Amino acid sequence: MSRAAPTDIVMAVRDYVHYLQQLGVTELPLRIADCGLRIAEKGGTSSSALRLQQLAESVHDCQNCRLHQGRTQVVFGTGNPDADLVFVGEAPGHDEDITGEAFVGAAGQLLTRIIQAMDLTREQVYILNVVKCRPPNNRNPLPDEVAACRPILQAQLACLQPRVICALGTFAAQALLQTEERISRLRGRFHNLGDVPVMPTYHPAYLLRNPQGKRAVWEDMQQIQRVLGLR
Ligand code: SF4
Repeated sequence: MSRAAPTDIVMAVRDYVHYLQQLGVTELPLRIADCGLRIAEKGGTSSSALRLQQLAESVHDCQNCRLHQGRTQVVFGTGNPDADLVFVGEAPGHDEDITGEAFVGAAGQLLTRIIQAMDLTREQVYILNVVKCRPPNNRNPLPDEVAACRPILQAQLACLQPRVICALGTFAAQALLQTEERISRLRGRFHNLGDVPVMPTYHPAYLLRNPQGKRAVWEDMQQIQRVLGLR
């Protein structure tokens, strides 16, 4: 089966985003590999990495929503392009905005320890956020900002083709699963995004304020481990 060249994929993503903007689209159902961008079979390590890199380059100067005004840089995501497990957070904070890396700072360090407790490393997973630019004063992203950034998220997941997604916190879970349910009601069981299981769990920043939630998170991580064959 022939595959589209990476530059063709990047152009397709860019055209797709612009096309949606021109249509005035404010919300987009999120389904993996639903935008004609299913590009990499598992095992195509170098091409997956290249396509993600080129996607990152194509959005580094994105101005599709107001969040571009206050950012230092787009925080695209980091990790293994062939990761089986993808963590999805909410939005970059101050440290992420400065460094350009998702989940650094105290919450990021806690996420690193959670990943290590799963017998994985940050280098083996991929970590990204629902929106790629820091909201002012670390407020929650607004619905139109999420909608504007959704094609990028969708293209990222189409590139990554993860076996499991872990949604970190209420906002990420609600954005991925298109629901208004609270995280306390969503966590603890898998939901489906297309044919990919999604495990919502508490955000590491929440755990820093509420350490009693760590037990529940560990139970959620154990379920992910079982799906991945790690226990
Ligand atoms: Fe573009 Fe997303 Fe940043 Fe908005 S948050 S400017 S849509 S990259």
